[in-house]
Amino acid sequence: MPLICLGLEGTAHSFGAGIVSGDGTVLSNVWDMYSPPTGGIHPREASRHHSDVGPTVIRNALERAGISPQEINLIAFSRGPGLGPCLRTTATIARTLALRLSVPLVGVNHCIAHIEIGCLESAFEDPVTVYVSGGNTQIIAYAGKRYRTFGETLDIAVGNMLDSFGRAVGMRFPAGPEIELKAEKASSYHQLPYSVKGMDLSYSGMLTAARKLHSEGTPLSEICFSVQETAFGMLAEIAERAIAHTKKRELLLTGGVARNDRLTDILKGVANRHDARFHRVSPPLAGDQGAMIAWTGVVQHRAGDSLKISDSHVLPKWRTDEQDIVWREVDG
Ligand code: AMP
Ligand code: MG
Repeated sequence: MPLICLGLEGTAHSFGAGIVSGDGTVLSNVWDMYSPPTGGIHPREASRHHSDVGPTVIRNALERAGISPQEINLIAFSRGPGLGPCLRTTATIARTLALRLSVPLVGVNHCIAHIEIGCLESAFEDPVTVYVSGGNTQIIAYAGKRYRTFGETLDIAVGNMLDSFGRAVGMRFPAGPEIELKAEKASSYHQLPYSVKGMDLSYSGMLTAARKLHSEGTPLSEICFSVQETAFGMLAEIAERAIAHTKKRELLLTGGVARNDRLTDILKGVANRHDARFHRVSPPLAGDQGAMIAWTGVVQHRAGDSLKISDSHVLPKWRTDEQDIVWREVDG
């Protein structure tokens, strides 16, 4: 019987269900995003959203894949990192389905899933990964059986910085796309804090400074341009150092902020300078969704990984480098 995995994603604002077969074909990938009318994401409200939309999202995923629940023979879920209430709701749905269908359960690290789906799409074997989203900003590379975080944000994620700035100036959540459009209309640069500390970076000072520019009447398009150039320049510096240090020949851009064309161009330049291949994960697979969880579930399951229901508590602070990567053959 072919392996068919249902993957459930629910670490933060989105609830997703993806169905992926053992050969890496994405049969369906459905998600629904919670978008608060005002303010940021409240974990309890987001988890209520997940339990409200969960059954419909899963049903739609099955319908689009054209398969019956009985054809699913593996359930994977996002075990962490993420918001506790959201993770628990998603884990409860996953456990219930695994018990009901009598199939194995696999717990997947959300950040690692972003890398694995990127590797599936690009056929990359051993990339330096720039993972940029609403909740995470990490530069990751494989070494010694773990995905090592070479650099990360010390405070807020780059997507969170864009969304918070957007909210302060009256944009809707998520603000990244609108900031990108506005930035294309400007070319005047205003100085903003460029905070790279070793291999880590910080975005909170930039957020404060950008809001100050706005209160002083600087044209919004010019602030958006300056925010993008500074924030993405910082990422490029760290990615370049990671490539130079590891001598890897592939650079992968993933996460919701990977949808940004300017960031893509900047990182392409980095890859070119180091003779590395570059891949930006395609928009449907770049943000938070279930297909990445399903595919990572497949590779973990093949490597013999499975989770007893009684051990399947969620891990809200699960770091990328805390999991032994038992399924990779290369040793970086
Ligand atoms: P994720 O957390 O992976 O679902 O990604 C959501 C994040 O991606 C939010 O912070 C969005 O603002 C951001 N985002 C989406 N599209 C773009 C874009 N075109 N440019 C910059 N950020 C974006
Ligand atoms: Mg994510």
